[in-house]
Amino acid sequence: MIQIDGSFGEGGGQILRTSLALSLLTGKPFCIQRIRAGRSKPGLMRQHLTAVNAAAEIGNADIQGNRIGSDSFTFIPETIRAGNYHFAIGSAGSCTLVLQTVLPALIRAEGPSEIILEGGTHNPFAPPFDFLAKAFLPLLNRMGPTVTTVLHRPGFYPAGGGRFQVSVRPVKALQGMELVTRGTVIRKSATAMVSNLPLSIAQRELKIVKETLDWHPDQLQALEVKDSKGPGNLLSIEVESAALTEVFTGFGERGVSAEKVAGRTARSVREYLAQAAPVGRYLADQLLIPMAMAGRGRFRTLSPSLHTTTNIEIIKQFLDVAIRLQPIDAHQWEIEISG
Ligand code: AMP
Repeated sequence: MIQIDGSFGEGGGQILRTSLALSLLTGKPFCIQRIRAGRSKPGLMRQHLTAVNAAAEIGNADIQGNRIGSDSFTFIPETIRAGNYHFAIGSAGSCTLVLQTVLPALIRAEGPSEIILEGGTHNPFAPPFDFLAKAFLPLLNRMGPTVTTVLHRPGFYPAGGGRFQVSVRPVKALQGMELVTRGTVIRKSATAMVSNLPLSIAQRELKIVKETLDWHPDQLQALEVKDSKGPGNLLSIEVESAALTEVFTGFGERGVSAEKVAGRTARSVREYLAQAAPVGRYLADQLLIPMAMAGRGRFRTLSPSLHTTTNIEIIKQFLDVAIRLQPIDAHQWEIEISG
């Protein structure tokens, strides 16, 4: 059985999700200990537990230790069942992180699946729905499967109550992909969204985006979401290039001014546009698993985060792939995956 040290490297929830995803995919059982030992509230939180239980349901797994607060568990998957699933996190825990756990197995399953996810759809420290729909899934689909998603209702942290649906048409094997150059930038836009908060917050954010990036008012949109449960504010900035779309997001926080939220987000876009690497740090995290599943891929990104290097080590415990990281210049690194 594969032994995973949950405190390794970055020591967060990604170790758990990558292990579950690849255990389902390969049928290899694993045992994880010291789960999230480096975090202020270690062990399985509700959101992680939902991911563990979702994986167990899809893979008909035998599992021990799946309780809130647990610092270890054993996961022995059987066969993957495609079909209709409904995962409710029961808090504002991130739905996209639960999806990240089960999607790799479902895109290679025997038949199509429909998944409904309920909880947080726009959470800090997780891929927001907009990033999933516009940045990650189009690239995943280029590798073979057809995965589409519809947002029924946004759910912001801490109220949650969001919901989206994902349809999966699987493939037998994924194709490799190369993302080495970005190509021409085709479209740039920023959307500032508020839920149960004054629209002026969104307008103040867009003013900062306009000043920092020198964008035209036609590229900026302020939106009021009517059907979400609690207060929330998201600034989402999209850069569509010939090779891919990148999405950068910032979240309104109590005690942090709208100007500060927008300034941080706009600066990360400015940094991205000033350099040649097509793939941002968050997208790099998401591309590793599908490329490792394909056994072939290459992309250029910013200097790898501890999150990325940790993820690579976990992937290598389940899949027989070589993953090479190489600096190209002062701002770009290349990650190459080969079988
Ligand atoms: P962890 O901190 O280990 O629970 O993992 C968080 C996950 O969310 C990683 O896959 C990150 O790449 C991803 N993530 C965090 N923030 C963002 C963001 N703003 N946009 C896209 N992905 C994100």
